[in-house]
Amino acid sequence: MSAAPAARLGDRSYTVMLLPGDGVGPEIVAAAQTVLAAAGERFGFSLVYEEGLLGGRAIDELGAPMEHGLIERCQACDAVLLGAVGGPQWDTTDPLRPRPEQGLLGMRKGLELYANLRPVKSFAALTHNSTLRPEVIAGVDLVIVRELTGGLYFGARERTADAAYDTMIYTESEVERLVDYAFRLAQGRRGLVHSVDKANVLESSRLWRAVAVRVAERYTDVELRHMYVDNAAMQLLRDPRQFDVVATENMFGDILSDEAGMLTGSIGMLPSASVGAGGVSLYEPIHGSAPDIAGHGIANPCATVLSAAMMLDLSFGEAEAAHAVEAAVETALQDGARTADIAAAGEPALGTEEMTARIVAALEAE
Ligand code: NAD
Repeated sequence: MSAAPAARLGDRSYTVMLLPGDGVGPEIVAAAQTVLAAAGERFGFSLVYEEGLLGGRAIDELGAPMEHGLIERCQACDAVLLGAVGGPQWDTTDPLRPRPEQGLLGMRKGLELYANLRPVKSFAALTHNSTLRPEVIAGVDLVIVRELTGGLYFGARERTADAAYDTMIYTESEVERLVDYAFRLAQGRRGLVHSVDKANVLESSRLWRAVAVRVAERYTDVELRHMYVDNAAMQLLRDPRQFDVVATENMFGDILSDEAGMLTGSIGMLPSASVGAGGVSLYEPIHGSAPDIAGHGIANPCATVLSAAMMLDLSFGEAEAAHAVEAAVETALQDGARTADIAAAGEPALGTEEMTARIVAALEAE
C-alpha cells in the first residue's frame, strides 16, 4: 500500500528531506543514504536530498529546536528521513530554554503525522538476542499502528492543589482514519487486524470499537478481531505470531509498541514510519541519539536502513527495492555481520561503515 503517493511517481525520482539530528544521527543517516544509493542503482530510481536542522544542532546554530520554515520545506519533499535528536548537553528543566524534542513534536504536529507504524519482525540470525525463547519469537511479523495525534496525550488536563486529570478524547474521524489505514495495510499483508481497546471500561474505547466495526464492513478481505489492551499485553509475550496488524489508540500503542519492540532484542534493529495526513510521511529508527557511542563509528545502522526501506515502499511505491533492502539486512546478519549491540560475547563486531558495506554487498549480490 502507499502512505502517500509520491509527488513525481512516474519519473521515479524522489526528493527526501534528511534530518540527521544529533549524536549518532548523522552516522546512521549517512549509512542509510549509502544503501539507498545502491538500491537506486539496482532498481533504476534516483533520490535528491535536501537537509534540514532539527534538535540540538538547531538549538546550537539557530537558538530554536527547528529551523524556521522546516515544515514547509518538508511538505515540498516526497518524504522525510530522520536520525535522532537530543543529548545531555541540551537537557534542561528550565521551561524557558528550548529542548531538542520540541523539534520532533513540532514535526509531528506540523506534518499531521497521525499514524505511527512500528513493524516487529524477528531475524532468524538474532533469535538468541530476545529475552523470550527462540521458538516463541521465530517467524514473528507484526506491525503496530498507533494513533499519534489524539487521545490522552492531547486531551484537556489540569492539576489542582491535591488532584490532577487527563482526558482521553477521540472523534470518530480520528479513529476512522487510523483504523482505515490499518485495514489497508493488512490487505497487503496477512489480512488480519486486531483492534486493541478497553471497551469494557472506557467510553472512548466503545466509540473506537464501533468505528472499527464500521470500517471493517468496507474490507471484506480483512478479518477484524477485538482485544482488550491488558490481554494484548499478555498475548504479545505468550504468542506474538498470532498478530498481523494491531490498531490502537495513542497511549496503548505507546506502551504496546515498546513491549513488542523488545521481542526482537536490540533497539538498533527497529525501524518506524509516521504517516502524514498531508501526504508527507516521516521515517526514523526507534532508538535515540545514543550519545554514549556517538562519534565512535560503531552505531548499528540497521534500524535506519530498515526505516529507509519502509520509505521506499510506503512513500515511493518501490516495493521491490524495499524488500531487497530488507532481505540484504537479513543476509548480512545470516552471514555473521554484527555491530557491537547485537554481537554475542566474543563475537567480532563491525563498525557502522563496515556493517553498511556488508548490507550493500548483500544487496548487490541478490
Ligand atoms: P537511546 O536509544 O539513544 O540509547 C539507549 C541505549 O541504546 C544506549 O546504550 C545506546 O548506545 C544504545 N543504542 C541506541 N541506538 C543504537 C544503535 N543504533 N546502535 C547501537 N546502540 C544503540 O536512548 P537514551 O540513551 O535514553 O536517549 C539518548 C538521547 O536520545 C536523549 O536525549 C533522548 O531524549 C533522545 N531520544 C531521541 C529519540 C528520537 O529522536 N526519536 C528517541 C528516544 C530518545
